[in-house]
Amino acid sequence: METQKRTITLKDMSGRSVEVTMWGDFCNREGSQLQGLVECGAFPVLAVKAGKVNDYSGKSVGTISSSQLLINPDLAEAHSLRQWFDCGGRDASTQSISRDFTPAASRNEIRKTVAQIKDDSLGMGDKPDWVTVKATVIFFKTDSFCYTACPNVIGDRQCNKKVTKSDSGNWLCDKCNQEFPECDYRYLLQLQIQDHSGTTWATAFQESGQEILGCSARDLYMFKENDDPRYTDILIQCLYQQYLLRLKVKYETYGDEGRVKNTVAKAERVDPSAESKFLIDYISRLTASY
Ligand SMILES: [Zn+2]
Repeated sequence: METQKRTITLKDMSGRSVEVTMWGDFCNREGSQLQGLVECGAFPVLAVKAGKVNDYSGKSVGTISSSQLLINPDLAEAHSLRQWFDCGGRDASTQSISRDFTPAASRNEIRKTVAQIKDDSLGMGDKPDWVTVKATVIFFKTDSFCYTACPNVIGDRQCNKKVTKSDSGNWLCDKCNQEFPECDYRYLLQLQIQDHSGTTWATAFQESGQEILGCSARDLYMFKENDDPRYTDILIQCLYQQYLLRLKVKYETYGDEGRVKNTVAKAERVDPSAESKFLIDYISRLTASY
């Protein structure tokens, strides 16, 4: 008889995913139950106890006879994972640890320190400079972190212009010249970032704001409006965390004044393992050039 095998992918708030392979009886018991849940649109939490970690070109987990698979267990970790998932984690991009990943150096990344943004006069050319910094978020400007955006979809693009509340209580878009009963909320998040060389300000818009906070602008706005403790929890969880930030650096003028503006194009939490590989690769290229 052919050995039964079923492979699933798990992800969590680390921004990583891992493959879990179920063997034998696990396929028909927990495996079928999981498949049923996934097919009807539920995303069950799965705890794997006593799984075997395989270390062949990346890490994966397999069941052995003494393994236990717990579906939607009543554990604190499972509840916080569920909260994260429902609050934007579902759409968060993940990197698989079950496949060998490309080291950052070969992705044509230009690493800079915060001080180098200024010292190397980045953003002063005709075109913006694109660089990656490894930095810690030390401050979120929270008095206004998002704006009310026009939900109107024109073609395949959302208008996204700022809308204002009209006398009728609807949201008015000057560009579309239309009123809407509901508006969208989009991030316009100002944050201060720091590394060993200095500090600077950066702006994150919708996608990168969500990548940093792991929560949609609408949810965060609602939490704040309703004095929901999740508002503070989400911000505290991201403060003093290290991120790899892909920045678009460009000098911009506002009236008579000008300054270099850093826009976050992509944000991901620093993964110690991937970062170590990057540094080892970087050091070996440095020594090779002598
Ligand atoms: Zn509009």
